[in-house]
Amino acid sequence: MRGLVYSGVNEMSIKEFPDPVPSAGWVVVDIKATSLCGSDLGTLTIPDHNRNLIMGHEGAGVVSALGPGVTKVNLGDRVALFHIIGCNKCKWCMSGYPQFCTEDRRALAGVEQGTDATKCLVKEENCLPLPDDISYAVGAFIGCFAGTSFSAMKKLNPNGTNTVVVSGLGPVGLCGVIYAKAMGARVIGVDGIKIRLDLAKELGADEVINFREADVAQSLLELTGGVGPDRLYETSGAIRAQMSLITAAATQGVMVCVGFPGHLGDQGDARVSLYPIIGKELTIRGSSIMARQNHYEILDFIKAKNIDLEKMITHRFKFDQIIEAMRLFATGETGKVVIDID
Ligand SMILES: [Zn+2]
Ligand SMILES: [Zn+2]
Repeated sequence: MRGLVYSGVNEMSIKEFPDPVPSAGWVVVDIKATSLCGSDLGTLTIPDHNRNLIMGHEGAGVVSALGPGVTKVNLGDRVALFHIIGCNKCKWCMSGYPQFCTEDRRALAGVEQGTDATKCLVKEENCLPLPDDISYAVGAFIGCFAGTSFSAMKKLNPNGTNTVVVSGLGPVGLCGVIYAKAMGARVIGVDGIKIRLDLAKELGADEVINFREADVAQSLLELTGGVGPDRLYETSGAIRAQMSLITAAATQGVMVCVGFPGHLGDQGDARVSLYPIIGKELTIRGSSIMARQNHYEILDFIKAKNIDLEKMITHRFKFDQIIEAMRLFATGETGKVVIDID
């Protein structure tokens, strides 16, 4: 089998590996689609990363080998992969949140081999069933950003009376635009890259704000008659963006953050103030990936609302072209980039 590995800062190579042999409770999935994620780019900046660890964590495919004692999946099953492998015994794993596992938490491309490969070894619990009418690419999405966005949007729970601002229009944000629109809300997107702003419009955003051309807080207030948006979804991790949203938020507004702060390197000595949070009775909370059960809700939701998440794809490549695909994705000038594997 073959997999994409880090081979130095901003360097990658495709490496041959022996086919994995599943132990008890583990299975091998032949990857059919893997999609590129912003966190993959973070890996490429690490000065001395593991050069034998396969990258990628958004994958879907077909179960091709079973370890002893596997009962939850069968050979030939189409599956999407949940990319956090937990102990499957602690209370968090048992309630569907392996990302909070306290005993043995391993991420694909973190501890275990990732999905940018022709095969991937996972526990059977990480295989989420993929109906025949859902593509492998969409399956790959649900396990990461499309799940993260759904879980966050459930916490915001918007309806037709709400204005949702989506800050950061990478895949996590764009997916939030689609969901918020399908839930009936008015949607305002914020980013600094034109192709992302255009995509947000195509995917349903009512208005967009380019933060390189306009003051975000002021624009949000102007677009809402001075009231401010009452549902705020922050995906960028930029502290300036978080501050703008808090400044513009409507009284008793609800904000959900999924972007970890600090990775953009442009924060200066900015600090989020508690004054507007207290003064306007804001609710601000984080959201981490999704609960495993959200997978089934997402499938129901996208079917009920006739949502085609493939519309987020701007580029598709074959596995041999994955390094070229990563280079293009790193420019930020793409929507979702998918690698199809025969
Ligand atoms: Zn991801
Ligand atoms: Zn656990």
